[in-house]
Amino acid sequence: MFEALRRYRRKRVLQTSALPDALWHEACGALPFLAIYSADALARLRDLVVLFLDAKSIVGAQGHVVTPIQRTIIAIQACVLVLNLDLALYDGFENVVVYPGEFVPGWEFEDEYGVVHRQDAPLAGEAMNRGPVILSWPDVADSANWDAAQMNLVIHEFAHKIDMHDGDANGCPPLPDDATRREWRRVMQRAYADFTARVDADEDTAIDPYAAESPGEFFAVLSEVFFAEPSLLVDEYPDVYRQFAGFYRQDPAARTA
Ligand SMILES: [Zn+2]
Repeated sequence: MFEALRRYRRKRVLQTSALPDALWHEACGALPFLAIYSADALARLRDLVVLFLDAKSIVGAQGHVVTPIQRTIIAIQACVLVLNLDLALYDGFENVVVYPGEFVPGWEFEDEYGVVHRQDAPLAGEAMNRGPVILSWPDVADSANWDAAQMNLVIHEFAHKIDMHDGDANGCPPLPDDATRREWRRVMQRAYADFTARVDADEDTAIDPYAAESPGEFFAVLSEVFFAEPSLLVDEYPDVYRQFAGFYRQDPAARTA
């Protein structure tokens, strides 16, 4: 019954909220990493984008006006992660908030000694647990082109959202069973230990050293690499690549080759 309702609703949204061709092509053109996707995959991605935009509000803050092309560029990148998964991984929050630049979140956190600190360093993006995804538009625009930026802000924040779907952003996304979770943890812990040792030794790593901040950041940063420069992840951490290919049900390195 619910499944039938869901299918009906999905069909209705796809019929009534189609994306104009010109807008779709312009947005895809701004995201060079999409070049490896087949026409069939892009058609499914386009449907997902329509459903995503129907379910979420992408709203401007501090006077920023979100244009249709900006909405589409953000939605495409959010949906690439769940292309072969379920949009329900993004349930539990409604808003994507877009700032005209980096923003100071101003939230407070307590350290292990009970001292309260205020987060007052400016951020380019943030994914709040059970809350919105917050993005700085200039950083979204700059990081749409991986070759130029070597980062992808939207993929990063939505990887955190997927990670948070079953609790905290701990670097372990929702996995189907205990055996898969054990194998995931084994591979990720080994790679994380190796990467943090390389960063601690001041090695000039090809992967953003920010990934050494925590297992959660390791998952988010490596998700960027998985989608935008998959061959780099294959070269650096082939075991992690295989875990990601299994989880995301995509094999972008094979398409690049
Ligand atoms: Zn992060």
